[in-house]
Amino acid sequence: MEKEKTFLGQPRGLSTLFFTEMWERFSYYGMRAILVYFMYDAVANGGLGLPKGTAVAIMSIYGSLVYMSSIVGGWISDRLLGSNKSVFYGGILIMLGHIVLATPLGIPALFVSMMLIVIGTGLLKSNVSGMVGHLYSKDDIRRDAGFSIFYMGINIGGLLAPIIVGILGQEVNYHLGFSIAAIGMFIGLVQYYVQGKTTLKSVAIAPTNPLSAAEKKTFFRAVVLVLLALAVLFGPAAATGHLSVDIFINFISVLGIFLPIYYFTKMLRSKDVTPDEKKKVLAYIPLFLSAIVFWSLEEQGSSILALFAADRTQSTLFGINIPASLYQTLNPLFVVLLTPVFVWLWTKLGSRQPRTEVKFAIGLVLAGLSFLLLMLPSLLFGVEERVSPLWLVLSFFIMIAGEMCLSPVGLSVTTKLAPKAFEAQTLAIWLLADASSQAINAQIARFYTPQTEGMYYGIVGGVAVVVGIILYLARKPIRNLIGNIH
Ligand code: GLU
Ligand code: ASP
Repeated sequence: MEKEKTFLGQPRGLSTLFFTEMWERFSYYGMRAILVYFMYDAVANGGLGLPKGTAVAIMSIYGSLVYMSSIVGGWISDRLLGSNKSVFYGGILIMLGHIVLATPLGIPALFVSMMLIVIGTGLLKSNVSGMVGHLYSKDDIRRDAGFSIFYMGINIGGLLAPIIVGILGQEVNYHLGFSIAAIGMFIGLVQYYVQGKTTLKSVAIAPTNPLSAAEKKTFFRAVVLVLLALAVLFGPAAATGHLSVDIFINFISVLGIFLPIYYFTKMLRSKDVTPDEKKKVLAYIPLFLSAIVFWSLEEQGSSILALFAADRTQSTLFGINIPASLYQTLNPLFVVLLTPVFVWLWTKLGSRQPRTEVKFAIGLVLAGLSFLLLMLPSLLFGVEERVSPLWLVLSFFIMIAGEMCLSPVGLSVTTKLAPKAFEAQTLAIWLLADASSQAINAQIARFYTPQTEGMYYGIVGGVAVVVGIILYLARKPIRNLIGNIH
């Protein structure tokens, strides 16, 4: 028999998915590295001239919608398109979204672009990770390693993006930056199409649970109804010029709280979920809530901490000038550096390694500490003096050590605890924690002012540490519900 060609000892399809997601994340994080500055920079400098507070809130709402939409993307792939096509169409929408932002059409372009990227990412992100799962049988021992390699791909994209898009976007012109993001997604699409023809030709090509003709009719009717409802809800406010960014932000924040409640209630009441599976859903709830707190802090890396980078740190380090967007490389850089360390550590500890719920608690405490650390610059030097960028570097380092304890572990525990009947939506449920966290961030950002930054970091960091400790104290009952899954 011909020996199977592999990529780092993994199925060849992993290489295709790795690079597709790497380029998609390159375009996403590249765009995000400059977006906040583009929004609040003065029109004369090529920005949109929005107030800083609004710009930060839009970053969060946008981040929230991008992950919330994976519920829709998961559903479309399950019932209409299959993951393979969903990823491709999603990529096209994302590329168009960046192209729109590369045009000098101002605020309308921003909103059209956001819409395209939200729907596109909804179609692409959870499906591309789902396809990674499809490459392995359930008991293939390469599965976890495959996911770690894939997570590295995400972060290599996230690492290159602020360097290339950030420098060109901030030092030359924002629109050039957004064009580079579009080109990145284009390369990813070509690569997916060409390489995927051989490596993914039989992976997830059909919907798993296709709609019948009658269901299709009901579906399209429901789409029309939802659009009408939205028109009724927002139409009058828009027509009379009262549709403010604030109304929209509040609406999404409510959705961010409501959606997980809806999902968990649905799982706990479904007759397709066995009593044993329901216990696991119950155990998953505290982990999910902790993940919301964790992502809330982690995602502020590209909003509140981006302001810290621009306004509070000295713009040179060892004599070299650093554009603020470059700080966005720190998160993915530390993920790339620390992943091998943590894989080694968990392997070395073997069965003595902390259980999932304890790893989550450690992750939260570290995230909290990374914020508590940022209380010090204003306490020591006041808020007028710019401080060394190393404060931010150390803060990101601690945060990412926490991410290593929570994020990859979270992905795998989600796939293990999700009930069978909800399997296809599993990754969408995990992304929902990140979506909710950013819906909450859009609200708490209001409490941030440069004058009171120390208090802000102290309270937010303190909450994360306390939640981490509570989770640690609750580890026994959680473990009883989880059973013997590691
Ligand atoms: N930062 C990761 C990504 O962009 C993880 C997001 C999450 O799992 O919430 O894929
Ligand atoms: N660490 C983020 C996600 O893991 C990526 C980033 O912020 O660039 O994978």
